[in-house]
Amino acid sequence: GMVMKRLEDYVRSIPDFPEEGIIFRDITSVLQDADGLALAIDSMQKCLEEMDVDVIVGTESRGFIFGVPIAYNLHKPFVPVRKKGKLPCETISEEYDLEYGSSVIEMHKDSIKPGQKVAIVDDLIATGGTVEAAVKMVEKLGGEVVKIVFLMELAGLHGRDRLKGYQVESVIRYE
Ligand code: 5GP
Repeated sequence: GMVMKRLEDYVRSIPDFPEEGIIFRDITSVLQDADGLALAIDSMQKCLEEMDVDVIVGTESRGFIFGVPIAYNLHKPFVPVRKKGKLPCETISEEYDLEYGSSVIEMHKDSIKPGQKVAIVDDLIATGGTVEAAVKMVEKLGGEVVKIVFLMELAGLHGRDRLKGYQVESVIRYE
């Protein structure tokens, strides 16, 4: 008979991308299947069930793909965290380390109001550096990070250790 595909069946694993030794978890194969797309959004949104959330924050760029439909479904605002230099109004910024060098991400200063409950959404947690920087910005703006949701978690990189004290949930876990 028919067997329902699981979400992990839609993720494509690409060896040696973007460099040798890395297994890249590709979500375009999830998005280009209507059932895969629905399953991804629904599974991530389920992590926010029964939660009191005012704002969904998503990190560039795959955090936008999942963050916006979740915000739309919950009828909450969506706030983008962008790479440096992309946002036109007054911004707050945070630098974080990459494997080689560092990167800067930004948010609009007026995007979060003090006291708002924030859920941060991204496709994947590796070292946790990106989301840790997003958490810092949200808190500098007076927001309270009540949940962090990922579609995928590379557990072996222990990104969760950088997010101690926060509610972190991922839908698919890779060891
Ligand atoms: P981190 O800051 O946790 O080390 O890296 C996470 C960021 O890198 C996320 O924004 C994510 O989109 C991207 N990333 C790193 N590795 C992968 C991967 O294998 N697949 C996907 N889809 N994104 C990745």
